[in-house]
Amino acid sequence: MSAAENFRNVLAEIEQARTRRHVAANEEITLIAVTKNHGVELMREAIDAGAKHIGENRVQEAAEKFPELNRSVTRHLIGHLQTNKAKAAVKLFDMIQSVDSEHLAAAIDKAAFNFDKVQDILIQVNAAREVQKSGVAPENLTALIKFVDGLKNLRLRGLMFIAPNFADVEECRPLFRKMRTLFDELKSARENFDFLSMGMTHDYKIAVEEGANVLRVGTAIFGERIYPQT
Ligand SMILES: *Cc1c(COP(=O)(O)O)cnc(C)c1O
Repeated sequence: MSAAENFRNVLAEIEQARTRRHVAANEEITLIAVTKNHGVELMREAIDAGAKHIGENRVQEAAEKFPELNRSVTRHLIGHLQTNKAKAAVKLFDMIQSVDSEHLAAAIDKAAFNFDKVQDILIQVNAAREVQKSGVAPENLTALIKFVDGLKNLRLRGLMFIAPNFADVEECRPLFRKMRTLFDELKSARENFDFLSMGMTHDYKIAVEEGANVLRVGTAIFGERIYPQT
C-alpha cells in the first residue's frame, strides 16, 4: 500500500480508538507523520494525502530535507537535541518536543531570542524511568517547568513521552494513563498547555484510548525504515 493509503488507514484507526476513549472524547487528535530515514518524495506524498504535521528526529537530516520539501506543514523535532544544535533546531522546527533539561531549555531560549521567535516546546518525561532514555524524571518535572516559565522565548505547550518497547504492548497502558493524569493536572492551572504527545506505530491505538492527543507514527505510514550502513 502507498503512504497515502496508509496515512488514511491510520486516521481511520485513530477514530476507531477514539470510540473506546474514556477521557476527552471529542478532543482534537493530531497525527504527526514521522519521516525520518525517508526521502522528500514520500514526505510530499503524505502531505498531499492530508498530513499537516511531520516529525524528524535529527536536526542534520531535517536541514537536508526541509529546503527541498516545498510544502507548508508543521514541523516537529521529536528526537534528542544537543545544545550545540539548538540554533539550527529553532530555525527548522515549529515545535521541539524533546526538552528535558534546564541546560537545553536555556540554549533553545537563547537561540529563539536571537532568531526573534517564541519557540513552542514540549517537555519529554521519562515516565517509565528507563535508564538509557532521554526525558526528565517525573520528580524533577515541576522544577524544570518552573525554570522554563522564566524563559521569555519559550512557550511550553505540553508533554511528550516515549513508551518502552514492551513485548506485550498492553504494558504501556498504565504509563499512558499516568501521563494523561499528569497532563490534566498541569493543564488545569496553565494557559496554552494543550498537547500530550505519546503513541507510535506499535502502541498508538492504546495511547489514543488513554488520552494522547498527539501521535508520532512512522512505520505504519511509510513502512520499515532502512537504516544506512555505518
Ligand atoms: C521514530 C520515532 C517515532 C515513530 O516510530 P514508529 O514506530 O516508526 O511509528 C515516534 N517517536 C519518536 C521519538 C521517534 O524517534
